[in-house]
Amino acid sequence: MVTKTTVGILGIQGAVSEHVTAVEKALEASNKPGTALVVKHYSDIDTVDALILPGGESTHMSKLLDKTGIHSAILERIQKNDLPIMGTCAGCVLLAKKLTKEDNDIHLLHAMDMTVTRNAFGRQKESFERPIRIDGFSKPYHAVFIRAPLIDTVESTTKVLASIDKKIIMARQGKFLALSFHPELTNDLRIHSLFLTMI
Ligand code: GLN
Repeated sequence: MVTKTTVGILGIQGAVSEHVTAVEKALEASNKPGTALVVKHYSDIDTVDALILPGGESTHMSKLLDKTGIHSAILERIQKNDLPIMGTCAGCVLLAKKLTKEDNDIHLLHAMDMTVTRNAFGRQKESFERPIRIDGFSKPYHAVFIRAPLIDTVESTTKVLASIDKKIIMARQGKFLALSFHPELTNDLRIHSLFLTMI
């Protein structure tokens, strides 16, 4: 029997539908039988093989994660080390072990050994797009940044996959992938495809 992969996309806040489309296309392109599931309830977490934490507002998302019980459900799977997670933008913030500037409104998942700075590009550069180099990708990737965080420091457990101007914007640690930009806003499926190989 062919097993079907279910990729959950946290659907309580932020850019959800674009990730659903990207996951569906990436599954199709990789010939992997599977589906995308919008996660709204803590019990959904038990049914997914992987999870995407989308961009949005990390303070708001964190509050809703706590309120819905999804935060604890994710933590349980993280502790069992059986849930690959991709965090994009606000999702990258939530995956961090630490924030450069502590914020009591954000309850981190402490999944990756990295310190993240929120809204790191300042007002003038709140949103911008630019080609970046990603380790393992043969061609540049066009990245969209929206009030993006930066990964300030990583420990030796965490591999840096992309940087701009010496600042880290993408990193991987085992089953976890963090990026400060929005891969769901381009038609380039390489990052979602990379995530599928981590499942
Ligand atoms: N600035 C937001 C935060 O820190 C992230 C922005 C985004 O996800 N596009 O939550």
